[in-house]
Amino acid sequence: MALIVQKYGGTSVGSPERIRNVARRVARFHANGDQVVVVVSAMSGETNRLIALAREVAAVPSPRELDTIVSTGEQVTIGLLCMALHDLGLEAKSYTGAQVRILTDSAFTKARILHIDDAPIREDLNVGRIVVVAGFQGVDRFGNITTLGRGGSDTTGVALAAALKADECQIYTDVDGVYTTDPRIVPEARKLDRITFEEMLELASQGSKVLQIRSVEFAGKYKVKLRVLSSFEEGGEGTLVTVEETNKMEQPVISGIAFNRDEAKITVRGVPDRPGTAYQILGPIAEANIDVDMIIQNLGHDGQANVSFTLPRNDCDRAMEVLEGVREHIGAQSLHSDKNIAKVSVVGVGMRSHPGVAAMMFRTLSEEGINILMISTSEIKISVAIEERHLEQAVKRLHHAFELERAK
Ligand code: ASP
Ligand code: MG
Repeated sequence: MALIVQKYGGTSVGSPERIRNVARRVARFHANGDQVVVVVSAMSGETNRLIALAREVAAVPSPRELDTIVSTGEQVTIGLLCMALHDLGLEAKSYTGAQVRILTDSAFTKARILHIDDAPIREDLNVGRIVVVAGFQGVDRFGNITTLGRGGSDTTGVALAAALKADECQIYTDVDGVYTTDPRIVPEARKLDRITFEEMLELASQGSKVLQIRSVEFAGKYKVKLRVLSSFEEGGEGTLVTVEETNKMEQPVISGIAFNRDEAKITVRGVPDRPGTAYQILGPIAEANIDVDMIIQNLGHDGQANVSFTLPRNDCDRAMEVLEGVREHIGAQSLHSDKNIAKVSVVGVGMRSHPGVAAMMFRTLSEEGINILMISTSEIKISVAIEERHLEQAVKRLHHAFELERAK
């Protein structure tokens, strides 16, 4: 007998038929003697619909009221799933985030979980009930409804698994695991049997959309055994996200390639080369709450520097406005932006023990005639910014060069 937390994403509960499917799967685990806590997302498209609805009434909706609205998507699914479970003759009980008491801070639309009261859920489990919890939502200490950021149901699942010390947290989604890269771009991409938290974290932050980044951080911190599985296929083992590194001796050094199309680059030309310049440029950008990713600075011979950085494409216009406002003060000659940038990252813990990964990456791109605009690295990741039109070619060639079609 095990205590399992299962999280089902929007597509897995996207129709009444699919909800009945989820109920049947949960019933099988229950029949097997397992205690099951189910976390569900809103039905697919529902959160987007609710956000759009809010925007029709207010161009800039109040974050508190927005959370009140978008949290209703998950509230519908928990009720529906419980009814489907009742239909199968099972006892099931739904909980909103506030009913569990998933206590969060008051940062509406991106709240952080502070504490989870596991006692009421345990009582239900102990009398054989299935517990169904609304993902993505919590409550602050004043009783306000909060939400955890897009994709936040993953974090609810992992946080509940940590609070309940569950044997496993299973994330059911529309793919059957974590792949070496997006199979839509590289058909030879392989499903990985295991991946480390560190690698998953890098892949998630570099553009892989399988898991919400915060859920991976949480799982790593609390050592939650996390598995990504398909809700449409039976019997697969999915991908286990683990702390242990496998014996990589016969495995590719790289575990996966992530990419992100939604990047832009801004270059500030001809700034004086003196202390404080980088801060004068990036300070106002940070104040505008814009995340900067890669940064380079090159020095000219004339005591002037160029500073370039990448940022999410959506924030590019706003960042340009901010910089226009401070350009004279900084003493910059000109500002340039390019919205056709993409980022490709190779990720793998094997990099720590295998030199030459960067060289291999750069050689592969040079053989394809792809120009590297910027580079950034961590201990287990190398990212490059390139022109977006080369993205697919770069991912395909790198996947082949690192022999990822042989990965497991
Ligand atoms: N329904 C929320 C969203 O779409 C949370 C989730 O699905 O994880 O972002
Ligand atoms: Mg998701």
